[in-house]
Amino acid sequence: MDFLTKKRFDTNGGPREAEVARVVSGAARSGDEDEFELKLRPVRLQEFIGQSKAKEQLAVALEAARSRGEALDHVLLFGPPGLGKTTLATIIANELGVGFQQTSGPALEKQGDLTAILTNLRERQVLFLDEIHRLQPVLEEKLYIALEDYKLDIMIGQGPAARTHVMTIHPFTFVGATTRPGLLSSPLRSRFGILLRLEFYTDDELRFIVERSAEVMGVGVDTDGAAEIAMRSRGTPRIANRLLRRVRDYAQVRAHGRIDLATAQAALEMLEVDAHGFDELDRRLLRTIIEKYDGGPVGLNTLAAALGEEEDALEEVYEPFLMQIGFLNRTPRGRVATRLAYEHLGIAPPVKAALFDRPTLF
Ligand code: ADP
Repeated sequence: MDFLTKKRFDTNGGPREAEVARVVSGAARSGDEDEFELKLRPVRLQEFIGQSKAKEQLAVALEAARSRGEALDHVLLFGPPGLGKTTLATIIANELGVGFQQTSGPALEKQGDLTAILTNLRERQVLFLDEIHRLQPVLEEKLYIALEDYKLDIMIGQGPAARTHVMTIHPFTFVGATTRPGLLSSPLRSRFGILLRLEFYTDDELRFIVERSAEVMGVGVDTDGAAEIAMRSRGTPRIANRLLRRVRDYAQVRAHGRIDLATAQAALEMLEVDAHGFDELDRRLLRTIIEKYDGGPVGLNTLAAALGEEEDALEEVYEPFLMQIGFLNRTPRGRVATRLAYEHLGIAPPVKAALFDRPTLF
């Protein structure tokens, strides 16, 4: 695999295998799911469901760039995995009618990797760099000079005879994506003219996505069946599509191929995905806070050690959705389980859990 195709599943620090293996993980997987995702990926901005704020901002910027005949300002997309960052980056290239090239922070190992990509860019094309927060600092510095002036410093020769040569590169649109915008250095962040935050999707938006994907896959699904899958998808299109695929298999074997409410429920029960899209890991996380740490507050590192998980994975992948639906809060003193979490697990909440619902009071 070279640095253009090597993506986020590589061994030098991509999501852990256990995380990637979860049915309800927002993280991408390699192999046939990759191909499947490609087929379901919306191609134009109009087909992209939800994210109305980000879409509107992008539509205006695209229109302006098109009418001026210039490259679009650099774009930073941020939000949890599986919400459509890569999809939007490809849509930007499609809408501008320019080429698209993709790589990722951890895939760029040497200065030469970045130089090769930048010098081969064509006029106004889109360069997408996923997991930009994992780009090495020396490469980051090189990149932001390129983003600012479309110039690149190249060393020629070695030792005392070495000289730097400044090379001009074609103007291009850079699209960076990250699940951790806080980790970007401020000089890099300031090079982006357009910052788009992707939010979790509503159940209705996810139902649309499930219905659209089912149509592309040629599977029959009724509204209730699609709504059931949507409800259990943790606000994440990648999970909705993955669950749809697994439910389709079940429907083919057990229910004449059509997905209705009963089929969706039975299939999701078999996959042990509960009504909130929680699986074993989410329940274990909440249970640990409640049972081992008396509902919290518990520090991130302590919690990660107790669960045998990495802090990054907890922070980027598990916690955002639990916080979004109000089961978990982050306080200055650590993580706390809310009353809803107690209720979901069928455990009587202590009086202090009511305070944890509003961390500002705590
Ligand atoms: P990210 O890069 O944020 O991890 P992706 O762009 O790879 O997420 O999206 C994962 C999958 O979810 C895509 O293959 C696409 O099919 C689907 N998807 C994402 N956003 C949307 C959307 N707004 N409408 C329809 N499908 C979407």
